[in-house]
Amino acid sequence: MPCPTPPHNFSAGPGALPDPVLLATQQALREIPETGLPILGISHRSPWFRNVLDEAEQLLRSLLGLHPSFHVLFLQGGSTLQFSQIPISFLRGHTSPADYLHTGYWSGKSIPEARREGPVRVAWSGEPHAFRSLPNPSELSPSPNAPYFHYVSNETVEGVQFHHTPGRDDIPRFCDMSSDLLSAPVDTSRFSLIYAHAQKNLGPSGVTLVLIRDELLQTTPPNLPSMLDYRRHAEARSIYNTPPVFAIYVTLLVLRWLHHDIGGLAAMNAINQTKARTLYHTLDSSSGFYLPRAHPDHRSVMNVVFDLHDPNLSPTLLLQAQHAGFHGLEGHRSLPSSIRASLYNAVPQSSVDALCDFLRDFARRHG
Ligand SMILES: *Cc1c(COP(=O)(O)O)cnc(C)c1O
Repeated sequence: MPCPTPPHNFSAGPGALPDPVLLATQQALREIPETGLPILGISHRSPWFRNVLDEAEQLLRSLLGLHPSFHVLFLQGGSTLQFSQIPISFLRGHTSPADYLHTGYWSGKSIPEARREGPVRVAWSGEPHAFRSLPNPSELSPSPNAPYFHYVSNETVEGVQFHHTPGRDDIPRFCDMSSDLLSAPVDTSRFSLIYAHAQKNLGPSGVTLVLIRDELLQTTPPNLPSMLDYRRHAEARSIYNTPPVFAIYVTLLVLRWLHHDIGGLAAMNAINQTKARTLYHTLDSSSGFYLPRAHPDHRSVMNVVFDLHDPNLSPTLLLQAQHAGFHGLEGHRSLPSSIRASLYNAVPQSSVDALCDFLRDFARRHG
């Protein structure tokens, strides 16, 4: 059944993309303006595609204020492959454990993969609190001997997000920023490796961004399978084999939008903060009809996860929401009765305002 109004897309991933990007993508499927060829039929070895990668890299460097010692790699395999590629590269053969924070579903996926490769110490776990909160700096005692410290900046499933940078500055800090990279400024100088697949906040699925310091790159072991060797990818400047041309091109369109239309990460953050504040305020003023999951200090700006005081009402809410044009609100399959509204960069304030009206109305009718 067609929707009378444009759909409001709160999908957790692949997430919403900006309208101008979708329009330009539609055009690119027929013909890229600069080449006259469709995006799905252009060689990755063409000078045009080299320029796409170079422009995407330059925009990322400028948006993030990236130190020149970082390599910018466009890889495949999703963030899940990074859960393995990281310990294969930096933990194998080590006797002191790497420090991992267990703050939710995704960090929980990264830890067993690391354990296959070497010793791991879970420096903090949110499991006793059902992953509703994150460690405050004083609760953490990161090891001074760890080969690296790994955490997830925004737990997409539970909706908890770090609003500070955990860990020690003298231990290489690695971060999975899959669901919040480019949503706000970040001090990349404090990191050695940052990774994020595109499909939450940066573009379509198929490409994974890895930002890695040159001095770290130089410590990868020799004789790794080439596709798992960051050094090979850096030497080949992300064209070691056929990269996901389409996904990288659409990511470039998103980067242009962020830079030229939005005006950079500080402006993006201001927009995102307002969206999140609007929605949390609606939930907080519902007299307990809606129950936000995360501790107020650790609420995610990107993924707002909440329960209904009566969880049996969740299917009704989701059905009515769908009819009213709100999509992607179902909670992750690990939290089946929760509702999750993902407020990625491309979700406009008007969609959040409309959702808040819907939620207030729903509570009036069922409260
Ligand atoms: C979605 C998600 C992943 C998994 O990414 P894939 O690209 O599906 O492998 C990993 N980490 C975080 C924080 C995520 O949100």
